[in-house]
Amino acid sequence: MADNNGRILMDLLKLTGNSECADCGKLGPEYASYNLGIFLCTRCATCHRHMGAQVSKIKHLKMDTWEDAQVARMKEVGNMKSKLKYERWVPPSYRKVSESTPQVLVEQFIFSKYKRQEFIHPERQSYTSGFMEGYLMKKGRENNQFLPRKFVLSEIENTLKYYVKDRKDPKAIIKISDINVEFSPEKIQELHSIPNSLQIDYIKDGSTRHIYVYHDDPQTVVNWYHAIRCCKLHLLQVAYPGATDTELIEFLSQDFDREGFLYKTGPSPKDVYKKRWCSLQGRKLMYHDEVLAAYPKGEIFLGHISAGFNVVPGFVPGFRESGYGFTLHTPDRAYQFSSETDVERSDWIQSIERVLKTPPKPQDNALAAVLNKKRTDSLAFFNR
Ligand SMILES: [Zn+2]
Repeated sequence: MADNNGRILMDLLKLTGNSECADCGKLGPEYASYNLGIFLCTRCATCHRHMGAQVSKIKHLKMDTWEDAQVARMKEVGNMKSKLKYERWVPPSYRKVSESTPQVLVEQFIFSKYKRQEFIHPERQSYTSGFMEGYLMKKGRENNQFLPRKFVLSEIENTLKYYVKDRKDPKAIIKISDINVEFSPEKIQELHSIPNSLQIDYIKDGSTRHIYVYHDDPQTVVNWYHAIRCCKLHLLQVAYPGATDTELIEFLSQDFDREGFLYKTGPSPKDVYKKRWCSLQGRKLMYHDEVLAAYPKGEIFLGHISAGFNVVPGFVPGFRESGYGFTLHTPDRAYQFSSETDVERSDWIQSIERVLKTPPKPQDNALAAVLNKKRTDSLAFFNR
């Protein structure tokens, strides 16, 4: 009785837990895995198919025919029960998957969960040991060539090091607590067609340094990403013993709020507009000569509106006008930007405004101190 089965499935879908995707939480699942007994969104169902039918068997809830035994399995398990089993030991530093999570990360979460069953068998989680070593393809600082470099992550030393060829001394020693790692930024995919990439940012001599790496194997990259997050959480737990994991987790890694090209002038009204790749990340607005630059040309700390920060459409009187302008006021200087379309301009203003209206956290003051120090040290070079 296919119609009857169809009705039972629709009733099951209304139960708590089943009304959202078992993996990413998206509302209104359209598919199901009938051997695992869970309801899934379209994107996660596709990831399940990639695992193979020996792990997960997928059917559309309405368009496929359901047998009685398959429906009985859906009734027996359901999303709540399944999560209790397959997500039992998800490490607190593991990035939660949502609708907006990059595709590779979603797919690897699903593979970890069902195929490798890492959250049932925590001993399979290579990324929680506080140590990781291996080769990643790293973009050259001054060129677009990616070359293999050995990376070593050590929580005990609080360092991430990388080595050039067989040299004994590391090319760089980075403090893990200074790292921000972003997963698969779109720009790397667009410029180099590399899907499994990481951008690793850290502060070097008072300026943010960017390094870009990838690996052909998506699992390897995702493991590096989670290994860095896990070390960071452990270091934060030591530094802030009173804080809960939930409070600390938001500091493990920060995605870009917005990235794209803008035009920017210098501090003098006579200066011309130059095309800059701009990245907004937390309370930092960085601008670069090139999309995959090693260093930003400048970085602006975004404080709170009550401290004299503001962003408004339009140009400062006396400055050249070009495109769709907006001005970022800081206590020290007005920064003049311009975008190519009205929509882009409102998007940037909105994103920056959201940051300016958010009260700063203690960690933000540390960033302000670093960026301000740099400005005083080398005003002429960095602040143009
Ligand atoms: Zn989903």
